[in-house]
Amino acid sequence: MTFAFDPSTISLPNGHYIGGRYVDAPKELAVHTPSDGRLLTDIPCGDQETVNQAVNAAKTALRESGWATVTPRERVKALHAWADLIEAEANTLAQLEAICSSRPVGQARVGDVGITATQIRFFAEFADKECGALAPTSGDQLGFISHEPYGVVGAITPWNYPISMAGWKLGPALAAGNAVVLKPSEMTPFSTLYLAELAERAGLPKGLINIVLGNGPETGAAITGHPDIAKVSFTGSTRAGSAIMENIAQSGIKPMTLELGGKSPQIVFADADLDKAADCIARGILPNAGQTCVAGTRVLVHHSLADALAAKLVTAFDAQKPAATWDDPAGFSPIISAGQMRRIDSIVQASIAAGADCLTGGQAFERPGSYYQPTLLSGVTEENPAVKEEIFGPVATFQTFDSDDEAIALANHPTYGLCAGVYTQDLSRAVRVTRALETGTVWVNRYGRSYDHILPTGGWKSSGIGKDLGREAFLANQRSKSVLIDL
Ligand code: NAD
Repeated sequence: MTFAFDPSTISLPNGHYIGGRYVDAPKELAVHTPSDGRLLTDIPCGDQETVNQAVNAAKTALRESGWATVTPRERVKALHAWADLIEAEANTLAQLEAICSSRPVGQARVGDVGITATQIRFFAEFADKECGALAPTSGDQLGFISHEPYGVVGAITPWNYPISMAGWKLGPALAAGNAVVLKPSEMTPFSTLYLAELAERAGLPKGLINIVLGNGPETGAAITGHPDIAKVSFTGSTRAGSAIMENIAQSGIKPMTLELGGKSPQIVFADADLDKAADCIARGILPNAGQTCVAGTRVLVHHSLADALAAKLVTAFDAQKPAATWDDPAGFSPIISAGQMRRIDSIVQASIAAGADCLTGGQAFERPGSYYQPTLLSGVTEENPAVKEEIFGPVATFQTFDSDDEAIALANHPTYGLCAGVYTQDLSRAVRVTRALETGTVWVNRYGRSYDHILPTGGWKSSGIGKDLGREAFLANQRSKSVLIDL
């Protein structure tokens, strides 16, 4: 079965989705299709007043539905019904995901949409199982710790995996008893809008999920600084994460979860299974044209395997054939925008000017749309821009080492600490190196998350604060209350 579609036939939901209905507003922001560079449509840019409306709708929904205080199993049932509908509407969601993003429709259909549904199911099951605690107080007292929702959670998501990033935020926040005001990326809003519509069709209270469209500096800042938004959950760049911290510091104190950028290493030791390592490394860089937070774009290899690994990676990189995101089977993904592609190229050219050897790639594909060739840069030092900066494109650097200590020193990036891959057949070395890595996640002899959602994900250093996924993400959407009663 093919999931290919004709982009000219698709009907787009458009407008802020507040209180269970679309709110009309002037269309101010252009949305393009990166597969061919065309203008798709314009969308509104929510201002403070729009965000106020969304927050009020969320508060009304909480008050009128009793979402936080209904029998927890009711929340579980409602969230499973939503997941059922997401699965039933997977074709439409996948098309809305693919039309303006870098996600190929077939992968979105069998991957991203299904993952979103299972994330919601995963978090739903915490609603009636996660408990507070009884405290060991003296016999004439009763002390306990209860977990309660925040109320209205503000969520902001990026463009690289729009629907599953929305699932990361909405699943735990709703399961924990909150309402949400969510701003998707201005480049990829449509699948998130439809996701919210489906929630209401599945029986979730109107206004529990409100989607405000817009940009970061105006709409995003109105959300993060809103006095009635009690917690912020953000996924995006480290630059925007810093701006959000600053805005929150100035507008009122509130907790935040920040999932930010990365510059993750993949370390190949001399005893690694070379074929497997090469395959994992390529699959850790190339999908979504490297526009993945966890992309393992710094390849570190023991000098004894360097030539053989470089040859395998060049072969894998050169095999990529670009295709529009509405084609199926999938081809190599476009870069999200022409501007982002120029940024990628400028870092590659700066890296070459600083002494890098370009083993393959190093320029855009000659075709319509924004497609950049998979690029491998060797002969780089830690000062090289391609090693220092998150590129967020199909560009990897290639460095060699002689000892485990040298590998660890190269792997620990001064700025980022999102994740790392370790390839070795020596269990003791795997554990020793894992312990020394300054990252929130380490994968050994594989690269990438499993899809059971139980392992929390989140960065160290400038890669973030707090976790998405896992029990930690559910708990991060509640606050604890300590109660002490004299009996
Ligand atoms: P971005 O930071 O430019 O935008 C992300 C979202 O934040 C968008 O919705 C944007 O409108 C909004 N935003 C921008 N500035 C803001 C501000 N000042 N206040 C409030 N909101 C603001 O990121 P992007 O280009 O959409 O996504 C790519 C980045 O996301 C990369 O750095 C990538 O590593 C990161 N990312 C991280 C993870 C993770 O789990 N750590 C996952 C996916 C993406």
